[in-house]
Amino acid sequence: MTYSRSITLVLTHDCPWHCRYCGFRTERNGLLPENEIERIVNEAKVGGAREALLISGERPGTMRHIREELERRGDSDFWDFASRVAERCAEAGLFPHGNFGRMTEEELGRVRPHFVSMGMMLESVLDDPECAPEKKAAGRRAGIEAAGRAKVPFTSGILVGWGESQVSRMESLEALAEIHSRYGHLQEILIQRYVPNAGSSWPAGAPPTLGEYREMFAAWRVWAPGVAIQIPPNLEPRWEQLLGELDDLGGISWARDEVNPNRPWEKVEEYEAGCLRRGRVLEERLPVYESHCTREWLTERWMQEVQKFGLRRRHERRLEDAFGRFEGGCQGEDPASAWTKGDVCDQSERELLTNLHRRVLVLRIWEAAWDGGGNVGSDR
Ligand code: SF4
Repeated sequence: MTYSRSITLVLTHDCPWHCRYCGFRTERNGLLPENEIERIVNEAKVGGAREALLISGERPGTMRHIREELERRGDSDFWDFASRVAERCAEAGLFPHGNFGRMTEEELGRVRPHFVSMGMMLESVLDDPECAPEKKAAGRRAGIEAAGRAKVPFTSGILVGWGESQVSRMESLEALAEIHSRYGHLQEILIQRYVPNAGSSWPAGAPPTLGEYREMFAAWRVWAPGVAIQIPPNLEPRWEQLLGELDDLGGISWARDEVNPNRPWEKVEEYEAGCLRRGRVLEERLPVYESHCTREWLTERWMQEVQKFGLRRRHERRLEDAFGRFEGGCQGEDPASAWTKGDVCDQSERELLTNLHRRVLVLRIWEAAWDGGGNVGSDR
């Protein structure tokens, strides 16, 4: 079972459309201020996020006030701005994942070098007359296909619990599987439960029963083997009962869910415990799945970043193991010797290891004092 430790940057809530179920859109709030970008990036670093999820309303660059603000900031258009923010995140060691609604193949090709992966929900094959023209199923399908042609590792999915039938859920999943069979770019799909937010005027419908969820999972395994299934646990209270069939719990953050602000996540430890109760181990992943960490899907720069991350995780695991043994009675290799044997690859890893090494030294001082009958600190 996997999850991604993430933080969200809403580049703008402004959107030209008015979907009835939407609690996300605003009219004229403008772009995320530059000082907020810096604050969130710094918070992400302190909080240990790996993924920076960059999102917006649908085609914000078509709105005049947004174009004027972009011009004032020196960005040629919204994609230029999104790429610049993604680069700032990458510079801080984060992996940017973008979700900006429907984009053309040309637009996706432009931003691809700056994002490790992207996504957009199909939501449904049903056309709702109350939704934005950009949300029509044909347009969403075209956007997901464009991502396949642009070779973008992609996340999509369906929305459930808004009044749809099980038949339409299955048809929506089948449509996604059909697109994936042609392009191979889907790395995961979400089956995301609709939760009305402040501002939504669409009531919640009946959510799928556990049996209906399982029917969807079973069909998806046949239609798109190897493409992970995700359920966001802050939106589906029965997530634990579905763990046997799931692969992923999605992005989890200590910060608020920007799309569903009244549905905060639990601490990761709570999800780890829930997984353990069902015999599953929760592990961290990057926004790009291993299935798409190849030169077919990633640029050389992202290949290198992903490899560095893998190496860093191996060191972290080895040191965590060594600490476990050390703290459990000084058995086996201690972290300091693990450190000297490791292939230290970059500054951030060196800092991590140095901090861990300091902890070992402090532990050794305490241990020596204890063994010698000393009482550290009592002479003051
Ligand atoms: S759902 Fe998307 S397109 Fe519709 S109003 Fe909200 S942000 Fe805009």
